[in-house]
Amino acid sequence: ATMPPLLSAIANAGRHGVLVKSAAVMQQLGEIDSVVVDKTGTLSQGAPHLTTLRLLPGTRLDEATVLAWAAALESNSEHPLARAVVDAARARGLELPAVSEFSALPGVGVTGVVAGAEVTVGSPRDVLAGSEVAEVVGELERLGETAVLVERNGLPVGVLGIVDQVRGDAAEAVAALTALTASSPVLLTGDNSRAATRLAAEVGITEVHADLLPQDKLDVVGQRTGQGRKVLALGDGVNDAPALAAAHVGVAMGRVGSDLALKAADVVIVRDELAAVPAVVSLSRRARRVVA
Ligand code: ADP
Ligand code: MG
Repeated sequence: ATMPPLLSAIANAGRHGVLVKSAAVMQQLGEIDSVVVDKTGTLSQGAPHLTTLRLLPGTRLDEATVLAWAAALESNSEHPLARAVVDAARARGLELPAVSEFSALPGVGVTGVVAGAEVTVGSPRDVLAGSEVAEVVGELERLGETAVLVERNGLPVGVLGIVDQVRGDAAEAVAALTALTASSPVLLTGDNSRAATRLAAEVGITEVHADLLPQDKLDVVGQRTGQGRKVLALGDGVNDAPALAAAHVGVAMGRVGSDLALKAADVVIVRDELAAVPAVVSLSRRARRVVA
């Protein structure tokens, strides 16, 4: 039996572990001329591990307590960084205290009441320049780590350093997407600019937008769309969902992806390989040639 080219391209993509949600999407994939890509969980493996735990001066808490509190909060989060914190606490055999009034702010962190105090775990982007905390954060970031701040009742108590390795096929995928779209992919991340720039250099990306909130990622997509570009947005997290939804084609990494990102996406990379992204764009172009 013969299938229409776009449908057979969808079937073909399926065999390569890529879920394309409709024939319209299969068609749009061939039109993209611009790529924006998330860092954590997308270009990086999304399997980060805790490498550093630093107590801040003035804290009377010990390392085990700070880690247990942070892990207690993070056990409610689906963020890749959260998994690193929980795994580290488990590896040390720590018992996690109860959490109440938990809430998560995408691109920022998590907060809740632990042991009678308000504890937050998240981005140190608002720490005071020149402070002792900023110094520790800077030290970790220069090592390429993602620094995560732990605060108790608004006072910094510790900084966690987390490292996530770049995916083995990231540089190759970036090169292929660059060739296909005749433009260099742009890195959009909520992480700090030092970690972002370092990873970007490793995979061959020159344009980096760091310290972004979900709305900022959406804005970058909006600007490019406004210039008449057909944007493919690639991400994995809750923080990417608005950008994925607004892009010409939103693509989510399936294995690490959050439910929200999977829902917002038009394409899901089920088999955990970045190479599938340029591959499916090529498939679409071939199918379109047959249609035309
Ligand atoms: P990316 O855009 O690279 O995927 P995110 O926007 O998900 O990164 O996260 C941006 C920053 O927000 C992280 O680098 C971290 O500092 C902070 N953050 C977000 N969620 C969490 C969390 N659950 N635990 C700790 N930090 C978090
Ligand atoms: Mg991410």
